[in-house]
Amino acid sequence: MRRESMWTSLTGAFDMVVVGGGVTGCGIARDAARRGLRVALVEMNDFAFGTSSRSSKLVHGGLRYLEQYEFNLVFEAVSERRILMDIAPHLVRPLGFLFPVYEHSRHKLWFINAGMWVYDGLSLFRSPQRHQNLDTEEVLGEEPLLGRKGLTGASLYYDCATDDARITLENALDAASHGACVCSYAKVIGFKTDARGRVSGVEIQDRTSGEKRVIEATAVVNATGPWTDQTLAMSGRGPKKPLLRPTKGVHIVVGHQALPLQHAVLCMHPEDGRVMFAIPWGDQTYIGTTDTDDVNDPSAVYATAEDVSYILEVVKTHFPDSSLTSDQVRSTWAGLRPLMCPVESSSDGLDESSVSREHQIVVGQDGLVTIAGGKLTTYRRMAAEVVDTVIKLLRLSDRMPPGLDASRTDEEPLPGAVGWPADDDRTKVRDRAHAASEGRLSLESAMLLTDTYGMSALDVARLVAAHPSLAEPIVSGRPEVMAQVDWAVRMELANEVSDVLMRRTQLFFRDSDQGLGGVERVGAYMAEALGWSTERREQSEEGYREEVALSRGWRD
Ligand code: FAD
Repeated sequence: MRRESMWTSLTGAFDMVVVGGGVTGCGIARDAARRGLRVALVEMNDFAFGTSSRSSKLVHGGLRYLEQYEFNLVFEAVSERRILMDIAPHLVRPLGFLFPVYEHSRHKLWFINAGMWVYDGLSLFRSPQRHQNLDTEEVLGEEPLLGRKGLTGASLYYDCATDDARITLENALDAASHGACVCSYAKVIGFKTDARGRVSGVEIQDRTSGEKRVIEATAVVNATGPWTDQTLAMSGRGPKKPLLRPTKGVHIVVGHQALPLQHAVLCMHPEDGRVMFAIPWGDQTYIGTTDTDDVNDPSAVYATAEDVSYILEVVKTHFPDSSLTSDQVRSTWAGLRPLMCPVESSSDGLDESSVSREHQIVVGQDGLVTIAGGKLTTYRRMAAEVVDTVIKLLRLSDRMPPGLDASRTDEEPLPGAVGWPADDDRTKVRDRAHAASEGRLSLESAMLLTDTYGMSALDVARLVAAHPSLAEPIVSGRPEVMAQVDWAVRMELANEVSDVLMRRTQLFFRDSDQGLGGVERVGAYMAEALGWSTERREQSEEGYREEVALSRGWRD
């Protein structure tokens, strides 16, 4: 499954074109393709280039909504959490969260405990694990670095951690294996309208070659996250007021030793009481997130020195003995939350077809379907709602293809979950991957492949058995191996060095030098596999170095 062949097959007419290859767009493409619609998805960069690789990487119910008595939102999110644990157990893993309570905390321990009963109850007691109350000594036994002054206890509850970029990618790959054409580096630069002024296709441009073409579609969906308003503006019949009010969120990554945690820890910022998390992440810990208004170009969002010191402040308060400094920050990421402004009426040329506090589906008078807002956790449900809306439009326009299936994305596993052990024991998959590589992969690399690809780790391991040089590390001393580069190019639509180092692997975030030591090796392999010229290879390598430099800009 190569990106170039996707571009070649991106011609003609489709039932539906989805603009945007974040988790929302890829989820929509998957749902629609599995129901039997002819679908194309176009993404102007790599899949998950936008917010979908820059989140806090949590699949969670949203505890904060309990405080506002928004039980329906929590119920929806915890139900989706359970579904994602079932359809993607390799990517959605239970994680314990410690909610420490101090004498000066806004709520006492009994109140937090009551909230946790409601939280567990709303999941119909199918949360990853039931919450527990810990007294002060127990809390410090779990997390010795936590400040002890005034600590009265904690609640230990469970949500899930995930890899946002890979959930997105697996949705795209599954859509493709059900007939969708999913093409990255294909930017929508205009909409085509018919004689009645209805959107009937999109003009796209290949960002690698510059070639332009038009593809026809009965329905077009705008799933461009923080770019929603720019996309609407392109249609010429967008709302007078913006649909979104994006805010920026920054995370910092430090080595595990710099802030060794067993559980995610909920922290309140000392200045403004904002809830933040410090989250263990294998041999790293990440901390975030900030929340500031941002109207900048969503393609160019980076951490600033203020963002980093705001985050370090919360660490200093909650972990007074950690002495974490900005020198220990390995990497940062920043993203825009596609938060909605409420649509008050249809006078803006938009009809509300579905409303909740978190997302909205709006259908313009030109027929463009826009999905605004939402979160990673509820992407699957939003996608199903969007496809339901599109099907209504197809029916109204008398262009409904016959014999469509119902949406069953709540039970159909993502590709890496097919064959996953029923007891969820990932070490079994690791051991099989190790064996499939004929012992050429270390157990550490086999585990990393399991965590990354689920059952497809076995295919990657077989590659290593067939081509032993692919067991070499991408960056010396780390478990990521060259077979992952090969797999990314041949099976996962990777088109640039950044795609491999940032989203197919996480070397950008996890390596102490952000993967810079592997750039030439990856560039050379991709050049060979994709037939690149020297100039193309240099451009791609340089593109990655620039990403690293921009993410480090806060140091200046
Ligand atoms: P995006 O992922 O941004 O995708 C939109 C895509 O559209 C982009 O890839 C972009 O390149 C593409 N595009 C734009 N214009 C065009 C064009 N003209 N042509 C083609 N393509 C185009 N949610 C949770 O559930 N859990 C969390 O822990 C969590 N943490 C978060 C933390 C932060 C800091 C932020 C910012 C968000 C967080 N969220 C979380 C929310 C969640 O990440 C987002 O709701 C979700 O990723 C949005 O996905 P999307 O597909 O709508 O947008």
